[in-house]
Amino acid sequence: MLLTPRLRSKPRITRHRKAALLASAVSVCLVAAAAPAEPLGVGDRLYPYLGNPGYDVASYDLNLTYPGTNDKPLQAVTTIDAWTTADLDRVNLDFAHGTVQSVEVDGRPADFSTAGEDLVVTPAHSLHRGLWTRITVRHTSDPVAGKDQEGGWVRTTDGLAMANQADAAHLVFPCNDHPSDKAMFTFRITAPNGWTAVANGLPAGADRVGTTTTWTYRTQHPMATELAQVSIGRSAVVRRQGPHGLPVRDVVPSADRKTLEPWLAKTPGQIAWLEDKVGRYPFETYGVLMAQASTGFELETQTLSLFEKELFTEPAYPKWYVESVMVHELSHQWFGDSVSPRTWSDVWLNEGHATWYEALYSEETAKRPMVDRMKAAYGASDRWRQSGGPPALPKAPVPGEKISIFRPNIYDGAALVLYALRQEIGRPAFERLERLWVQRHRDSTATTADFVRLASAVAGRDLSGFFQAWLYGEKTPPMPGHPDWKSAPPDRAAKAHTRR
Ligand SMILES: [Zn+2]
Repeated sequence: MLLTPRLRSKPRITRHRKAALLASAVSVCLVAAAAPAEPLGVGDRLYPYLGNPGYDVASYDLNLTYPGTNDKPLQAVTTIDAWTTADLDRVNLDFAHGTVQSVEVDGRPADFSTAGEDLVVTPAHSLHRGLWTRITVRHTSDPVAGKDQEGGWVRTTDGLAMANQADAAHLVFPCNDHPSDKAMFTFRITAPNGWTAVANGLPAGADRVGTTTTWTYRTQHPMATELAQVSIGRSAVVRRQGPHGLPVRDVVPSADRKTLEPWLAKTPGQIAWLEDKVGRYPFETYGVLMAQASTGFELETQTLSLFEKELFTEPAYPKWYVESVMVHELSHQWFGDSVSPRTWSDVWLNEGHATWYEALYSEETAKRPMVDRMKAAYGASDRWRQSGGPPALPKAPVPGEKISIFRPNIYDGAALVLYALRQEIGRPAFERLERLWVQRHRDSTATTADFVRLASAVAGRDLSGFFQAWLYGEKTPPMPGHPDWKSAPPDRAAKAHTRR
């Protein structure tokens, strides 16, 4: 994710994490003696109720029917195939915005109720550990944000797009909404003829029946729920070839296809540039989705990154800047998507690397030296650590603050850690580490400790002390090779901020 600098004030949306009401969900508990359903989580330090224990999702099949207007709920059927890792009397799913009509477990009707932001399913018979189970939920998926909810569906001027990072996929569909549980996805999107639907992965058919068309897409690689993308709009799908025949497809408003073409044409070169730095592009396809929406950010949804169209049409943004933002989201396909954070505290691995390649691209193509940007980041780093926490120990999201874990400490503050590392171990070792990192953890998840271990192995010495100071210290350590760099002391405004 990358926040767009605001050129004008936009309406502020607030989020309240505890708000979670499936108003029309019916709770019918047949086992009177059972303890009340409770919200569960996988213990994420920043989002304690995200994800659920006791199962591992292998695949999601999302069936969505778009009514032709983006202010009414879509009808949906979500089918989850999961492997149980514990005996389960109940299965908790994350789902907090929509009406649940029915739930089946392995083909038999199941009871369900809600607790916090969880949909709690009670199967007719409890599930044993070490078995496949299929959960089918019939529900609505509401693109109109609930009170104090933000994220999930994004309403565009011509339809819908999706922005689930970090914790909003479960506003769209029932799921195990944590990046530690990646799964394969199939999307079947039915829309009135005249709309175009595109989702992550490769197309697997478009079947026109009467007045509607059903568009099917499948991912070829596992994906975190936060990276799901479904675009429904009056869109053109523009196809071209990337390096070594990689299919590239961009999704743009039909009317703007010609105007936007010069930007679209840049993607293959950017992919080739990144492949040269870190190795083969990790997925089956790539492309940019230029949405007519005001999100305030761009987002690395897997194989199809989401951008505000305005980024490409607003003349106030310099060209080098727009390109660097494109490279930021593209590099997330390696760092964040293919290699996902095991917990949200590891998000510096996503944003630090995306910021790093964004800056490196600007250095190599637009004469904007990395060292200047890093010196400026060093100057601000103590303030960032004060307000947002050290890069690998970010402060919890603030209720009501937009996308609030995405603070400078995990962007330039974390790129600064990579710069310090490159200064410390030298350029050849650093570049070897980057390539090995995305190779070794491809299609998987990884932790900060994994990065520290691999860096130490590549450097041939224990770097845990170095990383402890740089990733967890309240103060920014001295920069190797630049003893003159100074970090400005935290100011009063930052202190006031942390007290909220
Ligand atoms: Zn980002």
